[in-house]
Amino acid sequence: VDAEDRSLGKTGLNAFLHVNAEQALDDARQVDADRAAGKQLPPLAGVPIAVKDLIVTTGQPTTAASRMLEGWMSPYDATVVQKIREARLPILGKTNLDEFAMGSSTEHSAFGCTRNPWDLDRIPGGSGGGSAAAVSAFQAPLALGTDTGGSIRQPASVTGSVGVKPTYGSVSRYGVIAMASSLDQVGPVTRTVRDAAALHEVIGGYDARDSTSINEPAGPYLAEAEKGATEGGLKGLKIGVVKELTGDGFQSGVSQRFQESLELLRAAGAEIVEVSTPHFDHALGAYYLIMASEVSSNLAKYDGVRFGLRKLPEEGPVTIERVMSATRAAGFGPEAKRRIILGTYALSAGYYDAYYGSAQKVRTLVQRDFTNAFEQVDVLVSPTSPTTAFKLGEKTDDPVSMYLNDIATIPTNLAGVPAISVPAGLAPENGLPVGVQFMAPVKEDARLYRVGAGLE
Ligand code: GLN
Repeated sequence: VDAEDRSLGKTGLNAFLHVNAEQALDDARQVDADRAAGKQLPPLAGVPIAVKDLIVTTGQPTTAASRMLEGWMSPYDATVVQKIREARLPILGKTNLDEFAMGSSTEHSAFGCTRNPWDLDRIPGGSGGGSAAAVSAFQAPLALGTDTGGSIRQPASVTGSVGVKPTYGSVSRYGVIAMASSLDQVGPVTRTVRDAAALHEVIGGYDARDSTSINEPAGPYLAEAEKGATEGGLKGLKIGVVKELTGDGFQSGVSQRFQESLELLRAAGAEIVEVSTPHFDHALGAYYLIMASEVSSNLAKYDGVRFGLRKLPEEGPVTIERVMSATRAAGFGPEAKRRIILGTYALSAGYYDAYYGSAQKVRTLVQRDFTNAFEQVDVLVSPTSPTTAFKLGEKTDDPVSMYLNDIATIPTNLAGVPAISVPAGLAPENGLPVGVQFMAPVKEDARLYRVGAGLE
């Protein structure tokens, strides 16, 4: 499918919630002028980028795809935005997402769903469906996403793009509207592994304004990707196939492309073995308790007083509680409400140990599974998502089946380890993109670029 067809004349996809055309053009012209004047420019200067609308920007609205923040303008830039501005990347606009990044299909946006450029009746993944659709449709060469349980990688997978969730703490979360703070990470969505590596070098590194930031410089990643892309570039690399994330429950075309990818990796010099991570089977359950608990706490600040929407009760006295209640009833969509209720319940006195406490124990076991696995292999591999893009509306009435789409991406967020999704061809049964996911130990993001470029 050529670029022209997939971009659909910029309409039809609803990838962007806000387009920053004039400013982006001005910024690009300024880069041109500086280049013509012989000024030294950063490597990606002039390459336009789209930004997920969960990341705050001055000069453009930030909504988190929620009525709660409709029309809200941030008084400051997120650190990653500041970095892309310093690197002279013109910002094309803000991309659509599931409300507050909660979902796997972008259908939970308050401003309409985004469509998959490969098939307009299908979802572009979520929560970062806007960023992935924009990149896949050639509306933007680069985009930023956020990944709490797969929101960069699963959209990348179902749109034939590359998506990276960096090591937790390696990219600043300052100015990224919090979903679940112990899991959230910002990362690149791009068309090639090398583009992702170059963008990761721009956005990564220490930030004193994020208390979980790792005090180390970012990269080099691009050089590693170049290494991986050369003939026999994966020689000496040991790759572990995650037994628990293959086989039953994965669509046949996904499994087929996955097996072919293993062959390509072997051909590039890698050794492939099977590895078991027994606690991954419980990761999804633990995630949906920990994530919802953190969501209920992070979303408490939308009280009708401090940010965005304020709604007065339709009748009766105007008290703080009643304003808060009217605001939250009108401002949050059904999925946000579902998770706030679940999280509040899991954290409530008497249930805390049974739910949140148990989930934290499972989290530790998942982390140990990774530690044990990385004693045997350099990187782990699995399909990114059990299925290709599903139909719009197919899972909206069944939250649990929607949650199951994250089965392969969630363990890495629980452990803080980095992961990349790389296109692995099209599923023969429906001609839709399949993604393969690599996972590496904490702070070994460079390995992902080497192995990813080796498969590309
Ligand atoms: N789809 C997952 C969820 O609904 C992941 C979301 C994310 O990574 N932001 O929680």
